[in-house]
Amino acid sequence: MAESRQTVSETLAGIIARRPVLAPMLNAFEPLLEARAALPEKLAPLLEKSGFELPSWQPERARQGAPLLAGVSLNGLFPLLRESADVLVPLLGRLPGMAEHETSLAAFFTDEALCLRAADTLLTGHDAALVDAATQSNIPPAVLLFALETVLGPVLRTLAATCDAPWDERPASWMQGFCPVCGSFPSIGYLDKRVFDEKNAFLAGGGGKKHMHCSLCGTDWHFRRGACPSCGKEGSGVMEFLRESRNSRGERIDWCTACKSYCPVVDLRECDGTPDMDAMALGMMHLDMVAAQKGLIPLKPSFWNQF
Ligand SMILES: [Zn+2]
Ligand SMILES: [Zn+2]
Repeated sequence: MAESRQTVSETLAGIIARRPVLAPMLNAFEPLLEARAALPEKLAPLLEKSGFELPSWQPERARQGAPLLAGVSLNGLFPLLRESADVLVPLLGRLPGMAEHETSLAAFFTDEALCLRAADTLLTGHDAALVDAATQSNIPPAVLLFALETVLGPVLRTLAATCDAPWDERPASWMQGFCPVCGSFPSIGYLDKRVFDEKNAFLAGGGGKKHMHCSLCGTDWHFRRGACPSCGKEGSGVMEFLRESRNSRGERIDWCTACKSYCPVVDLRECDGTPDMDAMALGMMHLDMVAAQKGLIPLKPSFWNQF
């Protein structure tokens, strides 16, 4: 996106102004979200020192739907994970219901073999292995999953920032509803703004193209508006959307009539600025509740949308 995004605090302040009822929850998460957003800059020198490199983009593999990190071990990234955990675990401990797990989580992230194995497991989606790691560490599986995603996120963002494939500019290069870099499902999507280009009228456009945002590695990619990112069904009537009539700034839920999965989406043509997408995903939890009442399933389960 050409336009610079709002910071986490600016985005949350905007949401709280419109929906004061969310203030306690958003204020509780703000320090964690801010620290996460600031970490990649701190981790970049550690990545360089580690010598770990993201595999380069190969059109053939992308066409087959293989994310860049498919089958790649995160071995070598432990110094980054450690640094991320040092900053984030104390902040996790301040969230409601998390204080009692802080000591076990801190211990978990000092065990190189254990936490690297769990990180690999997270990317391959082997839930049973993650449950084993949690049991072994005396941490509830849902808590470990949330902590692992929180700590691994900035590490993967640092890595994804070195990516040589501009996904947003090559719509045909990646057709999947999951992330082209790490394979996670998106936490939020957005419809882009109108484009104005004073020098070249041909580059101006009405906006409204759909993009997905990966909450784990921060990658944004283009996605077809009429298609379901979960089951892949496409066509008229497959995707429907739900929005509030009042106080909305383009916030809605796109859901699939075939598989009942949903993803929050923000239409940036109705926003003043461009919000921080991770803060925005959290700020749309009122719509997660509406979706839960309708029996819809979140495309990306998060700490706050498990009702
Ligand atoms: Zn990703
Ligand atoms: Zn579907």
